Amino acid sequence: MARNPAYVANPAFTDLFPEISGNAVNGLGSTQPRQASPFFWHPAGKQTHGALQTAVTEHLQRVPELSNHFSRNPPGGRGPKPINQARQRVDKPAAIWAKDVKSFALSHEGDLVGIAKMSPDYVYEGYEIKEPWVILVGVAMAYDELAQVPATFDNPTGAVVVAKEYNRAARVCRKLTNYILSQGYYAKAYQGPYASALNMIPAAIDAGLGELGKHGSMINREYGSSFRLSAVTTDLPLLADERDEFGADDYCTRCEACVRACPPDAIFDNKQMVRGVSKWYVDFDKCIPYFGDTFGCGICIARCPFSRPGNAFRLIERINKQSAKD
Ligand code: SF4
Ligand code: SF4
Repeated sequence: MARNPAYVANPAFTDLFPEISGNAVNGLGSTQPRQASPFFWHPAGKQTHGALQTAVTEHLQRVPELSNHFSRNPPGGRGPKPINQARQRVDKPAAIWAKDVKSFALSHEGDLVGIAKMSPDYVYEGYEIKEPWVILVGVAMAYDELAQVPATFDNPTGAVVVAKEYNRAARVCRKLTNYILSQGYYAKAYQGPYASALNMIPAAIDAGLGELGKHGSMINREYGSSFRLSAVTTDLPLLADERDEFGADDYCTRCEACVRACPPDAIFDNKQMVRGVSKWYVDFDKCIPYFGDTFGCGICIARCPFSRPGNAFRLIERINKQSAKD
């Protein structure tokens, strides 16, 4: 039985579903490891659900504050255009570069930063990334604004904070890209909400920014799920960070807050097999009509107990005490 039976999917979106399920495109139930397919937030012509994506994004644009933040010139901007790569390379050890790029990101509007060695797992099928390193940046979303989800025409605050922070994340990675180019190395910026070659979540997990939660988003030890990502790929010599496993994955096995809060009942309570990996998974076909209706939803990340300011710290302390007893 559906946990939230009151929600009826909007036909303005469901009528645009193609024959193939979004879950099949994502590889739900497939035991064969493979790269993720380009999907939602990729160019409409490059994916199976392009017409649905266009309808969802056109709906978002009907809210003036949102279309303002998603415009070409949003408040605060999206950061500088790339500069030319300097001819002369500055030579420093990888450990110093790693420290320098992190300091740069954190002093240029970033809240989180980590580094991963590039892997085919981070690249969408049909794309190529040649750079050997990826720097992941996180920017926090104001929780009091996020907590106002689901957004409506009358109160779009919970959606506007997402759009606003995507732009801040874009500024950080574009400024960091130019810093690296000015040092004589190649760098390329990746910013949301639209995706291209880089699948950011697996890279961000490996770079130590957090764990994957049951709601399909990341959980960071400080901001919970109240943050957005951007990234820079580069040939600058760097050092990889370690994963940060603080017990969120295990906590999710006992928590159901997001499952119970999700109006279309889209969040699986148990891990699913997805492209050969057992992981938390959200049913795309159930989520997206509600996501569209509410300008990006976000209920699951707002209701996650790790997202409440100061609470992640307390939860981790409790997790650590419990594991010391076991
Ligand atoms: S974004 Fe909304 S609809 Fe989608 S899984 Fe989260 S709570 Fe459910
Ligand atoms: S709400 Fe609970 S189950 Fe869902 S992601 Fe957060 S901690 Fe995990």
